Amino acid sequence: MSKVITLLGSTGSIGTQSLDVCRMHGYEVFGLSANSSVDKLLAQIAEFHPKYVAVTDPAAFEKLSAALAGQANAPKLLKGADGLRELATMDGAGTVLNAVVGIAGLDASLAAIESGHDLALANKESLVTGGHLVTDAVRKNGVHLLPVDSEHSAIFQCLQDQHSAKTLEKILLTASGGPFYGMTTEELRGKTKADALKHPNWNMGAKITIDSATLMNKGLELIEAAWLFGLPEDKIQIVVQRESIIHSAVQFADHSVIAQLGVPDMRIPIQYALTWPERLPSPVPELDFAALTHLSIGTADDETFRCLKACKKAIRKGGLAPCAANGANEAAVAHFLRDEIGFLDIGRLVEGIVDSDTFGGDYTLADVHECDRMARAYVEAHI
Ligand code: NDP
Ligand code: MG
Repeated sequence: MSKVITLLGSTGSIGTQSLDVCRMHGYEVFGLSANSSVDKLLAQIAEFHPKYVAVTDPAAFEKLSAALAGQANAPKLLKGADGLRELATMDGAGTVLNAVVGIAGLDASLAAIESGHDLALANKESLVTGGHLVTDAVRKNGVHLLPVDSEHSAIFQCLQDQHSAKTLEKILLTASGGPFYGMTTEELRGKTKADALKHPNWNMGAKITIDSATLMNKGLELIEAAWLFGLPEDKIQIVVQRESIIHSAVQFADHSVIAQLGVPDMRIPIQYALTWPERLPSPVPELDFAALTHLSIGTADDETFRCLKACKKAIRKGGLAPCAANGANEAAVAHFLRDEIGFLDIGRLVEGIVDSDTFGGDYTLADVHECDRMARAYVEAHI
C-alpha cells in the first residue's frame, strides 16, 4: 500500500521507530523534523530522501545547511518553530505523524489538521494543552485523529465495532506503575535522575521516562483519553498492569470488557495509526502465551504520586488547568534532568500550579501559550 507521511520529531524514540515502520512497508517520507540532532537527521535524509526538513534549533539549522551545501537532491530546509508549522501544512503528505515532545508540538498538530491532513498523534501534550482546539479543528476539517500512544491505540482498537462503541461506559487505562511502583513518599525522596530513567518495560525519550516515574504520564494520558473518547474523568479508571501486556480495555453497557494485548513495542500502535483501518504484518514478535505465567493487576496511588492527583484535579477544573499542569511539569522535569531539584519537587510544583487558580472557561491558542509561559514562570519562582 503506498503512503506518504511527514514525520515530526523523527530523531526521537517514537520518530526512529516510526521510520522502522516506514522502512518495513516502503512508505515514502515527504518531510522530517528535529530540534538539534543533526547527525541523526543526516543519516535519515540519506536513507529516506525527504523533500523538506524542518530544524527548530537555530545553530542546528546552520550546521545542517552547511553539511548539505552543494549536495544534489538535498531537501529544502525550514527553520525554527515557524518552519515546523509550515512543514505540517504541506500538501505532499497524506498523514502527519507528530512525535515531537512537549507543547512544542501543539501548533504543528493544529496546522496539520487545519490544512486537511490526517494526524497520527504521539504528542499527547497537544491534547493536554489545547484539547478543545485540537478536537474542534478535527471536527471542522473532517480529518482523522489517530492515536499513537499505546493505551489510546488500544482503546481505539477496542472501539472499532461501531455498534458496541455507542454503548461505551468506561475506559480501563492501564499503567505499568513505573520504576517506583509501591514506594512511599519517604522512599521517593532521595530518588535520582539515574533511578528514574530506568523504566521496567519501555525504552523511551528522557522526558516521558521521568513522567512515567512520577505517574505524570498517566495523568497526561487520562486527559488525553478524555479528549479522544469523550468520557469524563470518573469514567476512566487507571489500572496498574505491571508487565505492560494489557495496553488498555473498554467496558460496554452490558459490562462486557474488551482489552487489547501485545508485547510492549511501540511499533504496533505506530503502524496501526498509519494503516488504519487495515492491519498489516509487523516485525514485532507475537505474544507468547505459553511463556506468560501471570498478569498482575493493581491500583495507582495518587496520594503518593502527586502528579497524578494534580492531573485529576486539573481535568475536573477544566479550561487551561491541564495546560498549566503540563507547563509546570515540562519546566520541572527539565530542572530534575539537570539535577537542580529533587524527585518530589516535580509533584509539588505541578500540584502547586493547579491549586493556584480556577483556570476555568474557554481559551484561544494565544491563551494556551500565555498559560504555558505563566506555568514555567511559576516553577522558576517556586523551586
Ligand atoms: P524524544 O525526546 O525521544 O524525541 C522528541 C523529538 O522531538 C526529537 O525528534 C526531538 O529532536 C524533537 N524535539 C525536541 N524538542 C523540540 C522542540 N522544542 N521543537 C521541535 N522538536 C523538538 O521523545 P519521545 O519519542 O519519547 O516522545 C515523543 C512524544 O511521543 C511525546 O509527546 C511522548 O509523550 C509521546 N510518546 C512517547 C512514547 C515512547 O515510547 N517514547 C510512548 C507514547 C507516547 P532532537 O532529537 O533534535 O532533540
Ligand atoms: Mg502511553
